[in-house]
Amino acid sequence: MHKRDFLKMLALVLLGSTTSACDSGRDQGGMPRSQRVLVIGAGMAGLAAARELRRAGQQVLVLEARDRIGGRTWTSSKWPDLPLDLGASWIQGVEGNPITDLANQLGAKRLVTSFERTVVYNTNGQVLSKAEEAQLDGIRKQMFNTLHEAQDANADTSVRQAVAVLEQKFAGNRAALRFLNFCLSSEIEHEYAGSASRLSAHWYDSGEQFDGDDVLFAQGYTVITEYLARDVDVQLSQVVKEIQWQEPEVRVRTTNNEFVADRVVVTLPLGVLQHNDVRFVPQLPVAKRNAINKLGMGVLNKCFLRFPQAFWPEDMDWLGYVPEQHGEWTEWVSFKRATQLPILLGFNAADRGREIEGWLDEQVVADALVTLKTIFGTNIPNPIDYQITRWDADPFARGSYSYNALNSTPAMRTDLARPLAGRLFFAGEATSKDYFGTAHGAYLSGLQAASDVLSP
Ligand SMILES: Cc1cc2nc3c(=O)[nH]c(=O)nc-3n(C[C@H](O)[C@H](O)[C@H](O)COP(=O)(O)OP(=O)(O)OC[C@H]3O[C@@H](n4cnc5c(N)ncnc54)[C@H](O)[C@@H]3O)c2cc1C
Repeated sequence: MHKRDFLKMLALVLLGSTTSACDSGRDQGGMPRSQRVLVIGAGMAGLAAARELRRAGQQVLVLEARDRIGGRTWTSSKWPDLPLDLGASWIQGVEGNPITDLANQLGAKRLVTSFERTVVYNTNGQVLSKAEEAQLDGIRKQMFNTLHEAQDANADTSVRQAVAVLEQKFAGNRAALRFLNFCLSSEIEHEYAGSASRLSAHWYDSGEQFDGDDVLFAQGYTVITEYLARDVDVQLSQVVKEIQWQEPEVRVRTTNNEFVADRVVVTLPLGVLQHNDVRFVPQLPVAKRNAINKLGMGVLNKCFLRFPQAFWPEDMDWLGYVPEQHGEWTEWVSFKRATQLPILLGFNAADRGREIEGWLDEQVVADALVTLKTIFGTNIPNPIDYQITRWDADPFARGSYSYNALNSTPAMRTDLARPLAGRLFFAGEATSKDYFGTAHGAYLSGLQAASDVLSP
């Protein structure tokens, strides 16, 4: 079937309201006929699902709200000499990671960054002394030990509540409290994107990880999404508003069209589901609504600053800063060693990340410079340009990635992933019990949904 014919078949222009000619069901040999499958969302999960289904001979159309594919993987080409990832950047742990396989198939150039190349600066801007490093290590260990103990307790608490015993222990010792907050921010909030006061102590780290280096894509993560999207039909600027999933077929209404299909794979971000931006008719079952409401959608934002030249240690990949106030510019990545370009990336996560989304760009940059001047002196040059993300305000993401909030459990991710009535399938990073919050988790969830669609 030609692409145009297929699109014509799927699209029921609202006013025209013709019905689709293609019927589903099985042929006389009992084999499933080619099914019409709509995939909602052209991020990692949606593209992975669409590609698999298409390879299996299904008639697949992806509906994407934005005017681009990739979702929370998004490579900016504003600086032509360095494509920058505003969403996912790293293959986190290359060994056994399915994104490594895709990158190998493509021959995509990768750049390694290493946590071993980290330098940490204290609140006054000085590199930590040996004694301070030892103190920080000790506090980090106490924090993780305390969290381990909290995981053995019957009742769950938030990460912040769990470490309250340490806050009491260090009461009056401001340096120790700052170190504790630095660990909470850089090791936990930046990783999981949830606030320490909202993350579940029992489950915040329930996922699995791949071993090996963390690598960036020299040409940006877009090489992967473009590769997945090859040969897949995607309609951009189709904002889905309603999914009617009762018998006999599924109807998907967007702001300007209506589509029918035999099956629908929903890869909407958790934040979008939480905001009820898409109406399900009939409404989703209780277990799924419960999972949507109880899992958390976190925030991690990036602020890239481009300088005329590097004024920081060029052999380091990561710069840590122990701020006076919790969460303020605790982590930076230097692109100098990996790319030769004088670019710093500052992160803000969780409550702090959400808060500064409301600021003007100039305020964000000025605030970042206060920290950099504390560390490197007032004579550092001003940035020549910047790029800043606001994932929480993004209506098609409504946050950066999901986390296990207090009162949620990993089982809720299984509830979120569970297909309904053999017609409605779910994928996306939040549905991944093992690899939530990652691009590989999203990718694997898409493959799983495709396999579920194809199961008899
Ligand atoms: C700042 C940041 C840094 C990250 N860093 C890393 C990293 O280094 N490594 C890593 O592995 N992961 C990282 N992640 C996480 C990773 O990007 C995500 O887990 C993954 O991309 C999610 O893919 P997805 O397909 O589940 O969702 P999405 O990519 O969000 O795809 C869902 C799609 O649905 C579309 N959509 C939304 N609403 C509608 C609607 N109403 N109608 C139609 N379409 C709609 C969206 O536009 C989107 O394209 C990061 C994320 C962020 C934000």
